[in-house]
Amino acid sequence: MNNQISAINIPGFINKRTTNIDVHWFNLNFKSGERQFREDYFAASLLFNRLSIIVSILFFTAFAFLDQLTLNEVKGQLFTIRFAIVCPMIVILFSLTFTRFYKDYWQLITSIGTFVAGASIVAMTITAPQLGSGYYYVGTILVLMYCYMLLKLRFVWAAVTGWAIVLSYIVSVCIFPNIDHHDCVTNVFFLLSANILGMLGAYSLEYLYRKDYFHRKLLRIAQENVIRANGILEYKVKEKTKALQEDIEVRKETEKKLIQAIEKAEESDYLKTSFLQNMSHEIRTPLNAICGFTGILTGSRLVEEERNKYISIIQKSSDQLLAIVSDVLTISSLETGQVKVYCESFNVSTVMHDLYVMFSSAAEVKGLQLKLLMPEATLTTLLFTDKTKFIQVISNLLTNAIKFTEQGSVTFGYEQVKHELVFFVEDTGLGIDEDMITKVFERFRQVDPSQQRIVGGNGLGLAISKGFVELLGGRIWVESEINQGSRFYFTFLKGDVN
Ligand code: ADP
Repeated sequence: MNNQISAINIPGFINKRTTNIDVHWFNLNFKSGERQFREDYFAASLLFNRLSIIVSILFFTAFAFLDQLTLNEVKGQLFTIRFAIVCPMIVILFSLTFTRFYKDYWQLITSIGTFVAGASIVAMTITAPQLGSGYYYVGTILVLMYCYMLLKLRFVWAAVTGWAIVLSYIVSVCIFPNIDHHDCVTNVFFLLSANILGMLGAYSLEYLYRKDYFHRKLLRIAQENVIRANGILEYKVKEKTKALQEDIEVRKETEKKLIQAIEKAEESDYLKTSFLQNMSHEIRTPLNAICGFTGILTGSRLVEEERNKYISIIQKSSDQLLAIVSDVLTISSLETGQVKVYCESFNVSTVMHDLYVMFSSAAEVKGLQLKLLMPEATLTTLLFTDKTKFIQVISNLLTNAIKFTEQGSVTFGYEQVKHELVFFVEDTGLGIDEDMITKVFERFRQVDPSQQRIVGGNGLGLAISKGFVELLGGRIWVESEINQGSRFYFTFLKGDVN
């Protein structure tokens, strides 16, 4: 990552120091990167170089017209120079531009070609009589213009070629003085001036081109850096966004858990309050009966029949109180894991019959029909489990079934399903709302606490039943439809059955 960060800082490369072009004052070579520049320069110049070569043939051919017009007497020599030497040489030069090695030697080849063209014109001036040589030397100035401006020779090569042409002229007029002395000095003066101006022009052109190339290069580096920095920035933004999203997810999850915890705490608070209200009602009712009837029994003379009736009420109320206290103790023992299991083998059918007898009077009081359903072939089914807890579970379910049914019937029994013995208690009573189907097994939970105060109950029966069944290795659940009735199930493994 550190490397990436430092890469962002690369734009620092373009500072005041590095934006100054660093070239040699004379040959204009870059102190570094000259090779790349030359490649770039060749690629940019090739087309123009070829065009200039083609145009030079046209010029050389066109000027033959002057030979004909003004120097007819030496036309033969001039044509020979023009068409036997220069034009073929230019054609060869043009062909060379299409070869592979031209790229490496194009400056040398172009320089030689230019020199040959210039020297040919010098040769023409010597060949021509005085009048002609006076005109023809101007041709060397045209060649110099070509050399410095059009052929794309670099400054150094152009300067060497230019001076070579000028020197060849000076040497020629010295060796073959076919013109007037004054004319000769004037010509040389103009030729030197043209050469120097050409040099200056070529120097400034090349310097400007190199500057442009250098700035293009800087721009490219800056662009690359911007792209790279963008990439890193994008990556960082993505990473940050990802981290933020994760953070948001965690927060959302925490918030959800917090809300759930609050809801649970509120619910638990509500359940406790409702439990306490219920309990106070449940405890006070039998206590009031006990206190009231004990007072009557001790304070007044009563006939035998009345006394027995009151004693029976006191006994019933005491049993109720005992049951409540026992439920509270059982649920707290279940929660702390202190309930002990005492398994024994017993005949299920007998126990079920006893329960039928026990609950039939309660059902009768409410005008309900109590039914016991058992598989016929299993009259001697033995079950090895904690009998007391088993009886308490069925008793709780039967008590509820009778309590929450106003008319119809209560049916209980069991059946064998594969490896399990499935017990059930079914009624045609109130039924339980879908939302409450699993909640009714929670401690203190009552579907309608206000209704409960009328029918009685402390919200612990099903929680205890569930605790017992699970402790004995079974499952308990309920299927119900509101106002149609409920069917409670609990299971024991058939492995326990003989
Ligand atoms: P309670 O002593 O209040 O009956 P339980 O734990 O036995 O406590 O039952 C919890 C609640 O489940 C009851 O208050 C009642 O709302 C609902 N319930 C239990 N059995 C039945 C049933 N057979 N029909 C309708 N509702 C029932």
